[in-house]
Amino acid sequence: MSETLQIKSPVATGEKNVFDVEKIRSEFPILSRKVNGKPLVYLDNAATTQKPRAVIDRTNHYYNYENANIHRGLHFLSELATESYEKARLKIKEFINAMSASEIIYVRGATEAINLLATTMCRSGYFKDGDEIIVSHMEHHANIIPWQIMGGRKNVNLKVIPITDEGELDLEAYKKLINEKTKLVSVVHVSNSLGTINPVKEIIKYAHAHNIPVLLDGAQAVPHMRVDVQELDADFYVFSGHKMFAPTGIGVLYGKTKYLDKLPPYQGGGDMIRTVSFEGSTFADLPHKFEAGTPHIAGGIGLGAAIDYLNQFDPMDILRHEENLLNYATEKLSMIDGLRIIGTAKHKSAVVSFVVDGIHPYDIGTIIDTDGIAIRTGHHCTQPIMQRYNVSATARASFAFYNTLEEVDLLAEGLNKVIKLFK
Ligand code: PLP
Repeated sequence: MSETLQIKSPVATGEKNVFDVEKIRSEFPILSRKVNGKPLVYLDNAATTQKPRAVIDRTNHYYNYENANIHRGLHFLSELATESYEKARLKIKEFINAMSASEIIYVRGATEAINLLATTMCRSGYFKDGDEIIVSHMEHHANIIPWQIMGGRKNVNLKVIPITDEGELDLEAYKKLINEKTKLVSVVHVSNSLGTINPVKEIIKYAHAHNIPVLLDGAQAVPHMRVDVQELDADFYVFSGHKMFAPTGIGVLYGKTKYLDKLPPYQGGGDMIRTVSFEGSTFADLPHKFEAGTPHIAGGIGLGAAIDYLNQFDPMDILRHEENLLNYATEKLSMIDGLRIIGTAKHKSAVVSFVVDGIHPYDIGTIIDTDGIAIRTGHHCTQPIMQRYNVSATARASFAFYNTLEEVDLLAEGLNKVIKLFK
């Protein structure tokens, strides 16, 4: 096999592929496996997505033909690995339309990105005692706990944007929360437990009018819609590779240079320094200042391959297909007696959270798993939302562009079976 991977997809020519779900499914090896003797129906995409062959092959290719440590050696393999890893950073920059590749910081995922920011912002003296950070009631724990851990040291208080019964942010209440103590607005772009797509542009505009920077948690947005950080004018944007068809253990912190430049390093070690002596050290420029130690090289390259894979489709085709799935699933599940959908916002991504009278979500998940149907049950790392709706857990079906309407039928059939069993 040659040393350079032959890319056969239309990506190289910039052509867009026709959206053909069956063809797409054939490109994800795991989707043709059986679970409990039944064809897999994978509806847990908000937890993690499956990987196309192109990503698996590209990652294998790195280990088979390019493996070496990066940024350090002058030998052939080290240069090759560095080039592939940095090319992937450029692809990420283009994908979210950052101004510069140095604004793309590789991290383990959305969780690490927010921890990095919480740690370095607090360490930099950005927050004072009594300052406030605005989050929303629908945040993932990853956008709550880091602020409590780090901000707690400075008595920084979280202020919470309430949500309506439908699962939409109360924007009037948001505006009232902003005051001279507000130092950051940090909200989720798309909710993982409700599916709500938040009006983040409006949120950013209002915060900026008061000179407050905004962090968006885009973990559930980037796999489903085109995100343009410059158009949004987001100051920070974070996401995870594994939720967008790339490997686990790799993700992105995007930040505007004017903010990242002022923050101190996150971790110390190799690769993040300019000079080191026992008297004191100086640090590398962006993005390396935040990337201490040997990173997940294969993960970064795999994320680049996932972006190449996604780029072959028209994002509108993906959006339309997922909207069809959402509408069909909402209609089908609403017809089931005793089933209540939690999260009925006007603008939703393809996530359907629900509870069924008298049946615990864990029982639903366990029973339909015997039919090969994978859904998520629990609090989805959003306990405040569960408290808001007065439930301990929900069942959640979350879709990706490789799911089909037939799979929605199988989900509805499986749920009807569970209900019959309990009757
Ligand atoms: N934010 C949201 C909205 C999520 O859905 C998740 C994961 O479910 C995270 C953050 C954390 O992502 P990760 O576990 O990949 O760091």
